[in-house]
Amino acid sequence: MNIEILRCDITTIEADAIVNAANSSLLGGGGVDGAIHRAGGPEILEECRKIVARQGGCKTGEAVLTTAGRLPARYVIHTVGPVWNGGQRNEHSLLANCYRNSLQLALDAGCQTVAFPNISTGVYRFPAAEAARVAVATIRAFLQAHEGAMKVLLVCFDEVNFDCTKEELERGH
Ligand code: ADP
Repeated sequence: MNIEILRCDITTIEADAIVNAANSSLLGGGGVDGAIHRAGGPEILEECRKIVARQGGCKTGEAVLTTAGRLPARYVIHTVGPVWNGGQRNEHSLLANCYRNSLQLALDAGCQTVAFPNISTGVYRFPAAEAARVAVATIRAFLQAHEGAMKVLLVCFDEVNFDCTKEELERGH
């Protein structure tokens, strides 16, 4: 399976697309969102503002594509993860939608490599082990349905997410 795990800052990745764990306003925030806007420069926010003017933000589970500004990637795909609320509010399927919709957008844009952070596991408090299970299962299903189309990088920033994601990847082999 074409999935790799890395432990680093996603803003340094030279993929066709990197995914941003954005919020529904698309106007920037903390965590990985802040890091991407800081490193990529104002062009990314300018495109986000145009998307907001056109469609009024981005709903949880959905994704939009912008330039990557001065980042080494070509595109940033902004997706909005669910806020963890105990797990009974559709959080798992909403998180799966983030991965699926981002991958579809990347495929439609002709991307061959896509890098993901651990969506929702920061300020949105999704438990790392469960988030890793959803991420790996959803990516595997997508890559099976689109064989040979893409390589996916799972970019973990902290140790807990790295360990959980690695364990989940090893489970399937
Ligand atoms: P969310 O609101 O979706 O929880 P956060 O940005 O708060 O988004 O956190 C999502 C994940 O991104 C966390 O696992 C956090 O460790 C990770 N993260 C933060 N900064 C970076 C970065 N520069 N590169 C990759 N991952 C990052």
